[in-house]
Amino acid sequence: MADRYDVIVVGGGHNGLVAAAYMAMAGLNTLVLERRGLVGGACVTEELIPGYKFSSCAYVSWMLQPKVVADLELRRHGFDVYSQDPYLTQPFPDGHRVLFWQDDRRTEEEIARISPRDVEAYRSWWKFWSRAAEIFQPYLLTSPPTLEEIGDRLQGTAYQDVFKTLLTVSFRDLLDDFFESDQVKACFVSAPDLQGPRAVGSALSSAYYACSIFINPEDQGIAKGGMGGLTQAMARAARSHGVTIRTGAAVKRILVRGGKARGVVLTDGEEIESNLVVSNADPLQTFLRLVGPEELDRGFVEQLGRLKTDMAHLKLHCALREAPDFSRFLDTGEDALHLGLIKICPSVEYFEKSCEDTRQGTFTDCPVFEIQMPSAYDPTLAPDGHHVLSAFVFHAPRCLVGRSWEEAREEIANQLIDKITEYAPNFRDSIIDWRLFTPQDMEQRMGFTNGNIHHLDLVPSQMLSRRPLPGWSDYRTPIQGLYLCGAGTHPGGEVTGAPGHNAAHAVLEDWERNA
Ligand SMILES: Cc1cc2nc3c(=O)[nH]c(=O)nc-3n(C[C@H](O)[C@H](O)[C@H](O)COP(=O)(O)OP(=O)(O)OC[C@H]3O[C@@H](n4cnc5c(N)ncnc54)[C@H](O)[C@@H]3O)c2cc1C
Repeated sequence: MADRYDVIVVGGGHNGLVAAAYMAMAGLNTLVLERRGLVGGACVTEELIPGYKFSSCAYVSWMLQPKVVADLELRRHGFDVYSQDPYLTQPFPDGHRVLFWQDDRRTEEEIARISPRDVEAYRSWWKFWSRAAEIFQPYLLTSPPTLEEIGDRLQGTAYQDVFKTLLTVSFRDLLDDFFESDQVKACFVSAPDLQGPRAVGSALSSAYYACSIFINPEDQGIAKGGMGGLTQAMARAARSHGVTIRTGAAVKRILVRGGKARGVVLTDGEEIESNLVVSNADPLQTFLRLVGPEELDRGFVEQLGRLKTDMAHLKLHCALREAPDFSRFLDTGEDALHLGLIKICPSVEYFEKSCEDTRQGTFTDCPVFEIQMPSAYDPTLAPDGHHVLSAFVFHAPRCLVGRSWEEAREEIANQLIDKITEYAPNFRDSIIDWRLFTPQDMEQRMGFTNGNIHHLDLVPSQMLSRRPLPGWSDYRTPIQGLYLCGAGTHPGGEVTGAPGHNAAHAVLEDWERNA
């Protein structure tokens, strides 16, 4: 029998590390158990091709909460980013492009090249989303209110109309209300699930992402050493406060006796006792596999069965002997190496077809994706003169109809490579080797159910007080002493540290009350 701990954190994803650090800072004897050989979960750097290091899942730091950076002293522990300017490039097949610069005036000049009328619309668009972000921001680092409570608090304020619009208007209608140019609309189109941007409520989850305007610009960009640079800093911060981190330690069961969490059993049979257990695994894994339905109320298990995890993605990683040539989209003097993220989405209809095909279980011929070449900033990622490039595909079926992901892997990777080559003609010939992560790969590798990168879809029915389930949004669970701290809890996915922060505070509140 190993030592007894105050608290065991199941999973060393970024939220598990953040939760562990806060609990250790408050004096709890804390153990993190991570099933993989490295911590970080979906926020890691891995040498997927010999000599070439990739941010294998998350690729840009844009929502990391300033309070977490400060409290964990992440800078002192090695976290740093390369800022990107432009931070986003949207090229179009007809040779147009929009560069999104840190300086809004420069972005407006870009939009004016496509549609002078949409410059004013762009200003109003940001005003709308700033308001939306201001509505949600106060709730990111607290247990969430209901939508109704938020609505009540906004009565009679300037925010009331924005909130009503978010609840009642589709993203597509919102775009049509603001902009005239389809290319400008294509720069902003978004949807939280495969219902696509025409679904009512599809704008609501974007309010969460809009909260990125409150992130310190110096914490936004390409993490030095890849995204694993950030989670390594988090692990150093946690260790500096006394957290013990074990890798290669997969939890098989969370021990429950008398309705209370008592510790864990690892897959090799080792049993470790603790007063509390905090799970960074997704809610479905935590309750259905690690706890077991037999320990839970039938109604609760039925509710779990209705949770939505439909949104899946692909990620293509390529080792390159030379940088892709996007010069046909650039003016004289502009640097092709530093285009930031390059988003492929030529029109709103193209985006909608991507959702529709995915809903039907096929891989679309209209893939929407973002390309990033971090080695243009960080020379440690690839050999001299060579590059690493990754493409994150926004929509992919969890399972393909009629064939397995394994059968489709080669064809789909080639389809993506062809698509990128349409924009950068030297791309295919520059590839030394590639890897494609399918939803199935992500499930097996990273451990999240259905390869869902946010553990649960971030849709209105699974946001705020309804995340992961109504009545269970305060990180506590029906099992006494068991808490959730991952992306499946409020406020949701992305590399924010917020669920880890909030879960630790719920644990500490109970710990002090019971002391
Ligand atoms: C392809 C992809 C691209 C993304 N891009 C971005 C991006 O650019 N920017 C951004 O901010 N976010 C991005 N995200 C989302 C973001 O990475 C995730 O939402 C976030 O990292 C989730 O963090 P987490 O700590 O809650 O969970 P996870 O990262 O899933 O960590 C959970 C951890 O628990 C471990 N675990 C699970 N079960 C067990 C067990 N039984 N025993 C022991 N350990 C266990 C897992 O191995 C894992 O390490 C992306 C995600 C993916 C997959």
